Amino acid sequence: MTVKIVKAKKYDVKSLESLIRDAIKDIGSDLKNKKTVLLKPNIVIAAKPGSAIITHPAVVEALINVLEENGFEDIIIGEGPGVGADEAKAFEVSGYSKLAAKKNVKLINLNKAERTELKWKYGIIKIPKIVLEADLYINLPKMKTHGQTAVTLAMKNQKGLLSRADKQKFHKLGLHEPLVELARVIKPHLTIVDAIEGMEGEGPLNGKKKKVGALVIGTDQVETDAICCDIMGIDPEKVGHIIEGIKQNIGPEVPDLIGDDIKEVRAKFKQANEKYGKFLNVYSWRNPYACSMCIDSFSLAVRSSIWSPKYWLTFLPRFTYYAVLKHLYIIQGKHAKIPDMKGKVICLGDCTREIAEKNNLRHIKGCPPNSREILDNLR
Ligand code: SF4
Repeated sequence: MTVKIVKAKKYDVKSLESLIRDAIKDIGSDLKNKKTVLLKPNIVIAAKPGSAIITHPAVVEALINVLEENGFEDIIIGEGPGVGADEAKAFEVSGYSKLAAKKNVKLINLNKAERTELKWKYGIIKIPKIVLEADLYINLPKMKTHGQTAVTLAMKNQKGLLSRADKQKFHKLGLHEPLVELARVIKPHLTIVDAIEGMEGEGPLNGKKKKVGALVIGTDQVETDAICCDIMGIDPEKVGHIIEGIKQNIGPEVPDLIGDDIKEVRAKFKQANEKYGKFLNVYSWRNPYACSMCIDSFSLAVRSSIWSPKYWLTFLPRFTYYAVLKHLYIIQGKHAKIPDMKGKVICLGDCTREIAEKNNLRHIKGCPPNSREILDNLR
């Protein structure tokens, strides 16, 4: 199977359209006699198109134009934003509601989608019916680093297909292995990675924008992810789910690479700190037993406080006080340890209840904690 790298400097729909049209032809993706398509971008939270957190809607718009030319009648954009995210807000702020209205296509919240039960290594997994029924399923991840899985690309973007319960189960299973199994169960027909502007450092939400200036397009998700790692200067052998995907023959070992020279788009991505994620003076301590959903809930709370006037006089000034003038440490996950540093400590999630009680620390309940619980309980 083939992966094509195409240089793309800007989020300009017209030029992206012709790059995507040519790439689909060159990699031999078959669009003939197909009518229904599900497009799965990454819209994990309410973030603006240029934030580098989400797949830019210009890429999806360009793809929709190409699909329309090819006679697709039912084009559906579907995403299940992160646990605790306000889905309607996520679609609105990201520009996807506007795009769906402009192109007259459906935009569906996969968190509420009708599901089909499939057997997999860990019992039963519930996959949105639309993913299984569409003639074509196209995965559109954003190129980002990730505090727990090193990178988030095509294989990781499929997590947005899962129900809340399955998302939680994934974390308890250790992420990399269930991602490999998910890639075995659900295989996108096409993957288009938005690497025009990616995110490095404290991804997937709190990193820095990293310009790459490319789209990476392939028919095999494992192979496409491996090429993306190469572009990011990250050894795919060190990314558990990708190397396992290759070893278990889910993706071919040697990708057939075409298009622009990989050397011309390589951009060394800074990886997330192994000990903690840091934003201003807020440290989120990493713990292999913690699910990303715990800290994602905290990030979501901070972001939603920006959009909700209700919290402008409560959560937001308190958070700013700790983040700018003091130090705030967030601990999470089983067997968490209290950092040996001075500052305010918040114990996040049900896993930290005991340690919070023992040390008389502020505890925010939930598994994962609801972002509203965090917004109402930061003191
Ligand atoms: S409390 Fe947080 S870390 Fe613990 S199981 Fe729940 S989501 Fe995971």
